Amino acid sequence: MLSLPESHILVGGRWVASSTGATLDVYDPATSERIASVGSAGPEDVDRAVREAAAAQYEWARTSPSDRGRVLREWAALVARDSETLAETEARDVGKPLSDARRNVWIAHDMLVYFAGMADKVTGSTLPSRLESSFGFTLAEPHGVCALVTAWNVPALLMMAEAAPALAAGNALVIKPSETAPLVVLALAALAVEAGLPGGLISVLTGYGAEAGSPLVRHPMVDHVSFVGSTATGRAVMRDAAESLVPVKLELGGKSPNIVFADADLDNAVPLLADSILENSGQNCNAGSRLLVHADIAEEVTARLAAQFDSVKIGHWHEDLDLGPVATAAQRLKIERHVEQALAHGARLVTGGGRPDGGHYERGFFVTPVLLDRVTSDMAIVQNEVFGPVLTVQSFHDTAEAVDLANSTQFGLQTGIWTRDVSRAMRVVREVRSGQVSVNESSNVGVIGLPFNVTKASGFNSGGGYTAMREYTSEKAVSMRLSSW
Ligand code: NAD
Repeated sequence: MLSLPESHILVGGRWVASSTGATLDVYDPATSERIASVGSAGPEDVDRAVREAAAAQYEWARTSPSDRGRVLREWAALVARDSETLAETEARDVGKPLSDARRNVWIAHDMLVYFAGMADKVTGSTLPSRLESSFGFTLAEPHGVCALVTAWNVPALLMMAEAAPALAAGNALVIKPSETAPLVVLALAALAVEAGLPGGLISVLTGYGAEAGSPLVRHPMVDHVSFVGSTATGRAVMRDAAESLVPVKLELGGKSPNIVFADADLDNAVPLLADSILENSGQNCNAGSRLLVHADIAEEVTARLAAQFDSVKIGHWHEDLDLGPVATAAQRLKIERHVEQALAHGARLVTGGGRPDGGHYERGFFVTPVLLDRVTSDMAIVQNEVFGPVLTVQSFHDTAEAVDLANSTQFGLQTGIWTRDVSRAMRVVREVRSGQVSVNESSNVGVIGLPFNVTKASGFNSGGGYTAMREYTSEKAVSMRLSSW
């Protein structure tokens, strides 16, 4: 486990006490034990961090892109050096099995390497003019100070998907991580400073949304806002950002369907369908929380999934089993209420939904994975993001019905298609309203360069991948006339 200075925040690359004097305790969700206490930032800290960022960004934007890339590569080397400690920190903070956290830290590392390589590849265009003596060109320029407000579920990866392209493009960054799991974000930022990133370029303001997040989004010197979190908070963030009219990028909630056709290879599909809702205890924005299965195989797939759910081993992060607790007591209560309400409206509990027995689980926020069928599209459990290990099952008879069911929520994040028929897969790829689609696999996150696209109430403006440098720059259009033509 990482040792961080107690009760501090990171402002302009330096550990300082927060101006509020308040602290924020961080807990292990498997034991309810306090594992750290960090500073709780307020508006004064926001102001200081943003001003330091603005001052440092001017030089950083004028640093050669190759040198910016070099600093990011050095940062990546330190992430690799400390990967095990970083993984333990994320695992304990969120409650996830250690190998899940290891994978996330290495994805964060690989993103950093990817964007270090992009720093010197940001280009503009040259365009012809109507006038022979003129031409036009574009310059891609950093925004300035970027604010990043993030969620707690995959904190290292969420931070790096934004921090790496933002810094590579020449921006400065002020981060407000989630109050639920901020530790790995602080640790990663401290490594950036150790790697030689000029201090003013990175601040991590641990604290609450109202006291640190909202003042950051509303700060008049912030030039770009990136938010990862729930759809409800995303709306508030967008309202706040409207005051200063800055570009906003939102990555919000999901209710992602997996559509399983009758010809699917079930030996491949069933374990991956289970993983897509059990990974991180179902607390992933792209969790496959809705199973849409052809009526001919619905009974078989439901039975196979129930067996898979029943065999899941539940434990603490260091035991590295299949499933950890959910992140907070409130999160578990929300899950249990959703399931109770669904049952009251006629859903059938195929399996799960209890709290595991025994002293080992007593003080943690554990739930056994839930499989529900006989649900309908008008039920809250089908429409709302539950953010827990809860899978609903609906059946369909033809492709059109499958697409209608897939598109029947407000969200548009990820859709999985499971079939051996390429033509049918391609038809569904085109017809689903979803930022991301995967065929015969449950998500796209293995492809570092692929954008993490979202649509509808899941947000907008592309994150990650090859489009991220575009998000973190603004294009200046220039026309030039040559006088001595
Ligand atoms: P949340 O919306 O409760 O909080 C997200 C962040 O916003 C936290 O740092 C919080 O302190 C801050 N915040 C709260 N109110 C604020 C305000 N008024 N102004 C500014 N900041 C404020 O979300 P959460 O519970 O931390 O995370 C879970 C949610 O995140 C889920 O909905 C999940 O789907 C979503 N998520 C989306 C993606 C994606 O890429 N689409 C990735 C991960 C998580």
